[in-house]
Amino acid sequence: MKKLFGTFGVRGIVNRELTPELAYKLGLALATHLGNRGKVAIGRDNRTSGFMFESSVVAGLLAGGCDVLRLGLTPTPVLSFSIHHFKCDAGVIITASHNPPEYNGIKLWGSDGAGFERQREREIEKIVETGGTTVGWDRIGKALSADAVSAYTRALLQRVPKIKRKLRVVVDCGSAVGSLVTPYVLRELGCEVISMNSQLDGTFPGRKLEPVPENLQDLAKTVVACGADLGIAHDGDADRTLIADEKGNLLSGDRVFAFAALNYLQHRKRPRIITTVATSKVIDDVAQKLNGQVVRTRVGEPEIVGEYKRNGGDIGGEENGGVLFFDWTPCRDGIMTAVQFVLALAESETTVSELNSTLPQYHQVKQRIECPNELKPRVLQQLSEQEWEGQLTTIDGIRIDFDDGWLLLRPSGTEPIFRCFAEAKTAKRAAELAELGMARLKEAVEKSSS
Ligand code: MG
Repeated sequence: MKKLFGTFGVRGIVNRELTPELAYKLGLALATHLGNRGKVAIGRDNRTSGFMFESSVVAGLLAGGCDVLRLGLTPTPVLSFSIHHFKCDAGVIITASHNPPEYNGIKLWGSDGAGFERQREREIEKIVETGGTTVGWDRIGKALSADAVSAYTRALLQRVPKIKRKLRVVVDCGSAVGSLVTPYVLRELGCEVISMNSQLDGTFPGRKLEPVPENLQDLAKTVVACGADLGIAHDGDADRTLIADEKGNLLSGDRVFAFAALNYLQHRKRPRIITTVATSKVIDDVAQKLNGQVVRTRVGEPEIVGEYKRNGGDIGGEENGGVLFFDWTPCRDGIMTAVQFVLALAESETTVSELNSTLPQYHQVKQRIECPNELKPRVLQQLSEQEWEGQLTTIDGIRIDFDDGWLLLRPSGTEPIFRCFAEAKTAKRAAELAELGMARLKEAVEKSSS
């Protein structure tokens, strides 16, 4: 059977890997999977191919007897929220998140607003292969539409207090769909908002969409030039957020998660924080402050959601700035993340850089080494059999926790590489740990290929 779904839905280059024909088949397969009935919410980001794929998926759903709730241009968290808000049986988002404009993707969601589990994706793949079931002319689905952005914005603003302090915020949405929500929400919250890269443009001319420091230098400079209190940036579908302080320094995704968590969980008893093995120890510091607990999972949003569904939890997050507020919607929500960070800042009555210094500082080194996919299991086996001077865990790759830092050696799920993450309280120790990790990796790859 052909594997269609990757780590975040079906993704590929438009009209080469991902075609309107495949989109139609996916729509029909989803309708068939739902028993040729029910209502499905569908949204898209503003890529040039968005309307084309939306039309194809909608045609498949209608031909398969499902009603469709068309939401139009929608950030991913707004789609997730809309599924339960409008009582739909499933959802579809058409986005390629942070990938370049020539890509697009299709991801499926359950009635609770969480992404389909692996098992359900497998079932869809099976139906695509054998062909879905269409219905007769008198059972074709109906196409409805709804204003998801307004519903989401209203519900979000009902949950959070207005800020009492005047904050000047620069928002950079990368010319993508975050522009439809975040600048307005922050203004309603009481911020003075300066927006940049916030005209929708499916060619994304302003910057690359991945919210990482090298792509956000214009934001950093604008924050300083405007004398703003902070800068906020999203990826292409606004499920991730990065923050710049008033001096133009970018906070890592871990720390955005940490401050969002501190604010969101401040009144909860023993909160359960779900994160992956790749996240900074700063999350443990947060848990300690809140008298809560950290649960570590394998890397990836589905792993965090899976743990939440099995055992419950209050908040989830990743080192890349994706945070999930489970009792809001079980999907990474960059808009809510930005709001929680702004609330934390407003309450602190300090600057972002001062707020940032209230949690311990860590230094991180991230490196990679090439490793063919077929060698990965052998390399991992070798690494786990070696003597390490720290505490070894094997949740995902191997992680070794030392007294003064940690090291993670993990095979990438998508590329033929092994990743090496090191973190410590000093830059020197982080570099030492990374060097140790890379040396051990190099040796293990060489041994495995001989
Ligand atoms: Mg994204």
